[in-house]
Amino acid sequence: MIEKRQFYINGAWVDAIDGTDHQVIDPSTEEPCAVIALGGQADTDAAVAAAKAALPGWMATPPAERIACVERLLEVYNRRAEEMSQAMSLEMGAPIDMARSGQTGAGSWHLQNFIDAAKAFDFEAPLNDHSPEDRIIHEAVGVAALITPWNWPMNQVTLKVGAAAVAGCTMVLKPSEESPLNAILFAEMMDEAGFPAGVFNLVNGDGAGVGSQLSAHPDVDMVSFTGSTRAGKLISKAAADTLKRVHLELGGKGANLIFADSDDKAVTRGVRHMMENTGQSCNAPSRMMVEAPIYDRVVTEAAEVAQATKVGPASEPGRHIGPVVNAVQWDKIQDLIQTGIDEGARLVAGGPGRPEGLNRGFYVRPTVFADVTPDMTIAREEIFGPVLSIMKFETEEEGVRIANDTPYGLTNYVQTGDGARRNRLARQLRSGMVQMNGKSRSAGSPFGGMKQSGNGREGGHWGIADFLEVKAVSGWAAE
Ligand code: NAD
Repeated sequence: MIEKRQFYINGAWVDAIDGTDHQVIDPSTEEPCAVIALGGQADTDAAVAAAKAALPGWMATPPAERIACVERLLEVYNRRAEEMSQAMSLEMGAPIDMARSGQTGAGSWHLQNFIDAAKAFDFEAPLNDHSPEDRIIHEAVGVAALITPWNWPMNQVTLKVGAAAVAGCTMVLKPSEESPLNAILFAEMMDEAGFPAGVFNLVNGDGAGVGSQLSAHPDVDMVSFTGSTRAGKLISKAAADTLKRVHLELGGKGANLIFADSDDKAVTRGVRHMMENTGQSCNAPSRMMVEAPIYDRVVTEAAEVAQATKVGPASEPGRHIGPVVNAVQWDKIQDLIQTGIDEGARLVAGGPGRPEGLNRGFYVRPTVFADVTPDMTIAREEIFGPVLSIMKFETEEEGVRIANDTPYGLTNYVQTGDGARRNRLARQLRSGMVQMNGKSRSAGSPFGGMKQSGNGREGGHWGIADFLEVKAVSGWAAE
């Protein structure tokens, strides 16, 4: 059993002051695989104090030196990538090949994009050509608390740490208690990369403990949070008394509008994207909305793709999907599948229970419902499992209306050969991102949502800007 009870505070590994033991469960086997400590108020205070003490020095460090630290981090991260993949695969159930490419790969990608964006960022610039004495200075928000989820752990940690580091913020990371091992390893990498003591601190804990303590802490200037909309609301309330900046990346209920003139891979692509990471992605295209003339064909094809999706343990190589993260998620997904059946949706693939041959581990059958209507629970709630809801629309207008009829607004998807329609829909869909015809967003493109999907942007230039204050100076002397 792995034992990792220490926290990384002020450049050193220290014992918890106020710790309680917590078992990390391997979702592929349901067996404990590690023990960590969950911290308490004294641990939170120690980490925040270290970050506060390191802030003036890090803010005054020239951006080029901060960027050089992130470059060293990326070198260490890439060198130790296999350890990172193994950690995530074990604790959150990503199949090892996908952990290497998708999960660990996302971290390298974000760090590189921050390095590139930071080199091009004007941290200080004149207001304009006509006001030589006006200067705009972008400076760090201050001490940032970074609270991250278990589903894309390194994706989220690097999106926050990379941006905060180049912006000049000091930080306290609290990863999800479901997947702490990758973050502990990441802290070792920060240490190896030579960040000054106190710039980066790690405290493990749960939401009610360290998570709430960081959100309410008077010496924390900003919380950057990724996770559920439920926790996002609690964090916003806890942060209100100190009026700190709160950056939220929350859940989603993405629509994938498939028109009759879509390309012949659109349906397969949509189902596979839904099943990726066992459906545990905030930007999953979980509502497949199909234009009426091709509806029956799409339902058949989607069911076939789901039936062909293999499920298995995270440790096995291959392109299967793994278990979901824990018993709570497994139960929630089972309840929602049963609700779909009870409310009259037509089950065309998968269904309740575990896939055949897998009677231990949090495995879910890749499931597709057809004839889902906008009022059904499975059309409205984020399921966070490998469950696709297929809905029919008659006109483009109706498609857009149903797609926007959700409290979420993270990513919507459009599949059509008609370029004018694509651009029209991109403007009408109420979401932070619109991805069309299977085109991924390019390096440096901002990730984030509208409505109850959140309020910030992560990645590249916009991700850095979220960790900066804008200071307007007049009377600036020529240098
Ligand atoms: P969660 O909200 O339960 O937990 C996320 C993190 O918040 C964990 O570290 C947890 O300990 C902490 N937390 C929980 N309650 C808290 C509280 N009251 N105060 C402070 N911290 C608290 O979410 P989860 O189950 O770990 O992750 C799944 C959710 O995250 C999904 O809803 C998913 O859509 C969302 N998500 C969103 C994005 C995005 O960028 N929009 C990315 C990944 C995941």
